[in-house]
Amino acid sequence: MAKRTKHVKPEHREILTAEVLASKRISPNFVRVTVGGQGLAGFTAMGFDQWFRLFMPGRDGNLKLPTSASNLGWFAQYLMMGKEHRPLTRNYTVRDYRAAGFGEFGSTAEIDIDFVSHGDDSPASAWANNATPGNRVGLLDEGIMYQAPDHCDWHLLAGDESALPGIAGVLRSLPRESAGAAFIEIPHAEDAQELGEPAGVRVNWLVREDPHAEVGTLVAAAVAGADIPDTGVYAFVAGEQKLAAGVRRHLAQEREIPKTDITFTGYWRVGKSQG
Ligand SMILES: Cc1cc2nc3c(=O)[nH]c(=O)nc-3n(C[C@H](O)[C@H](O)[C@H](O)COP(=O)(O)OP(=O)(O)OC[C@H]3O[C@@H](n4cnc5c(N)ncnc54)[C@H](O)[C@@H]3O)c2cc1C
Repeated sequence: MAKRTKHVKPEHREILTAEVLASKRISPNFVRVTVGGQGLAGFTAMGFDQWFRLFMPGRDGNLKLPTSASNLGWFAQYLMMGKEHRPLTRNYTVRDYRAAGFGEFGSTAEIDIDFVSHGDDSPASAWANNATPGNRVGLLDEGIMYQAPDHCDWHLLAGDESALPGIAGVLRSLPRESAGAAFIEIPHAEDAQELGEPAGVRVNWLVREDPHAEVGTLVAAAVAGADIPDTGVYAFVAGEQKLAAGVRRHLAQEREIPKTDITFTGYWRVGKSQG
């Protein structure tokens, strides 16, 4: 069994290697990169918002991977490599997983990663925009954060485009009889995707018509005006840091949802690199 802490961590952790099998722009602001290879044989899919650290080639163009998978271990090794040689490291979500034998591009396991394509000045976004078959990466599985307590039977999901893959994974993993609502802010109407949600969970797409609008404003307003049950709500809020903190504050203070029934995570910050 995976160890149960605040988050559900994988039972076994190691830095796995994979290679790009395919890459395509699936909508105006998303690039889907599929990775696979024998190295993914060690990956266990957990569903929900399962995320991982993705290691991409560093400034010198080479992919040098830490050998330790412990939290302190890999990071210490990473720092020791020096700025020129350390890998580019960012966090991403499993958008889809296909076991070996069920792949679309080969015989090994495959993982689809949906990257928000937000420009070539941002290293991971640029890497995804230019990914070609054969490019090598490393993956360190970090498990899932979504953990609805037993006393909650209504699922509230809120986030921006960076959280679309995580919310999609949750909606696909929830029991089919689940009830709830999802609020997903996206930059363009064509960035909406089929999510495979249970019939009782309503998905609300909130399109930012103005490219200069502050990320998260629409989702915050939609959640504030939403019809949410008084009890039994579990909330998962992810995306830009201010969005996640603001929606959580609203849910805790105005809706009186216990903080322990809210999982919130800042996935990125306006104007700040995660590097
Ligand atoms: C658990 C977890 C799961 C995640 N899953 C995904 C995922 O599946 N898909 C995904 O696309 N992202 C995901 N993210 C977010 C991703 O890790 C960040 O967006 C990351 O900062 C991207 O790295 P970068 O090198 O492109 O930009 P950085 O070097 O980190 O930042 C450079 C500039 O780009 C801006 N920026 C960063 N991200 C975005 C964005 N999404 N939109 C607009 N501007 C941005 C920053 O504000 C900064 O100004 C996840 C984050 C976490 C913590």
